[in-house]
Amino acid sequence: PRDTVDVVVVGSGGAGFSAAVSAHDHGASVILIEKEPLIGGNAKLAAGGMNAAWTDQQKAKGIKDSVESMYKDTMKGGRDLNEPELVEVLTSHSKGSVDWLTAMGADLNDVGRMGGASANRSHRPTGGAGVGAHVIQVLYDNAVKRDVDMRMNTRGIEILKDDKGNVKGLLVKGMYKGYYWIKADAVILATGGFAKNNDRVAKLDPKLKGFISTNQPGATGDGIDVAGNAGAAMTDLQYIQAHPTLSVKGGVMVTEAVRGNGAILVNREGKRFVNEITTRDKASAAILNQTGKSAFLIFDDSVRKSLSKIDKYIGLGVAPSADSLIKLGEMEEIDGKALTEAVARYNSFVKSGKDADFGRPNLPRALNEGNYYAIEVTPGVHHTMGGVKIDSKAEIMNAKQQVIPGLYGAGEVTGGVHGANRLGGNAISDIVTFGRMAGENAAEYSKKN
Ligand code: ADP
Repeated sequence: PRDTVDVVVVGSGGAGFSAAVSAHDHGASVILIEKEPLIGGNAKLAAGGMNAAWTDQQKAKGIKDSVESMYKDTMKGGRDLNEPELVEVLTSHSKGSVDWLTAMGADLNDVGRMGGASANRSHRPTGGAGVGAHVIQVLYDNAVKRDVDMRMNTRGIEILKDDKGNVKGLLVKGMYKGYYWIKADAVILATGGFAKNNDRVAKLDPKLKGFISTNQPGATGDGIDVAGNAGAAMTDLQYIQAHPTLSVKGGVMVTEAVRGNGAILVNREGKRFVNEITTRDKASAAILNQTGKSAFLIFDDSVRKSLSKIDKYIGLGVAPSADSLIKLGEMEEIDGKALTEAVARYNSFVKSGKDADFGRPNLPRALNEGNYYAIEVTPGVHHTMGGVKIDSKAEIMNAKQQVIPGLYGAGEVTGGVHGANRLGGNAISDIVTFGRMAGENAAEYSKKN
């Protein structure tokens, strides 16, 4: 294999694969490297959905939505600290990204609700199966079809530049080959975040010291150092998101779609305490305020049937069930009488269409069918909003706000898209849209260099 190409992509998550496929389709030769033995990064674990507005899939279901509404929700969710021009790109290209994946064979026909969204816009495979694994599979198959040179167990170490400051390649370390240079006109960093690196996390946000994480082992943030050593500016590193619902047993991340499809949250006293569909930062803070710093997701068989992922949680043994709420309370040491009352009151809100207690915006179904389930949950570190600074073309910038020629960034390694808090469903949207853009722009750049 040659070690000279037009574009090197670092990282095999959704951003890296989108970049590799798109760079190839814009005429570039591509090498994609991944430091872990397995492809897919955290993207592969994403279960919620891919947010997009004004899609054919929404129209087919009679869902009214708009790019403006997705823009407003994203800014509000990020506490208005997002970079507006990046949110503009995210939202206005979201439909195009869904179409791009669909044309490559993806099924994104199921559309559900995630926290902080004012419409159902979270796209996922029919039956609600994990969106991340599906998207990665589709992108991987397409990369294979295009004969993209993929190298696992290969870590990106240092960006090579010429004396004018233009990127010329990347120093990598292969597990068997050791250190070697890949010469390239452009490098795309798609190395993901650092939620699994608790030292780095706790330095930036001491409240999160010792927290467990939902992330895969590769989410350590060394790509941020690679970029920093090449002169990249950083933004928003202090904003680190806890996912509100990790199962206390085993630390399994329970997707927000469980709440979106109708589960409620109660505390050990059997009472609801929050609008379950609020943003992740607020839901996490509310759970940490309850007895034992945990809460219970409560749902019935109608919710279970609406989302195939739930059977996985049941299979893993983290969602015990009983045929009555009283029994469920006894098993899980929740006040069963209060729980029964809370569910009955919630069901009356479903009927009237209005949550008089917490203003929950979506009330998809009453909880009164078959068995009841309880998953005890607590927050864990999930997503790092900050990272390298990019412009709206996915070019990485230095501290003087100048582009570093030939260096691109996409996905969780970048900052600015999500402000202080990322909405569920916006990560897949981010990595596909900015990955595609980085791939296209890097390919065009390499033609001129
Ligand atoms: P995104 O969602 O932004 O695509 P992911 O976390 O899904 O990010 O994927 C990032 C991938 O990059 C992970 O598989 C991770 O192991 C890999 N990675 C991180 N740092 C490096 C590095 N220095 N060299 C090669 N791969 C890396």
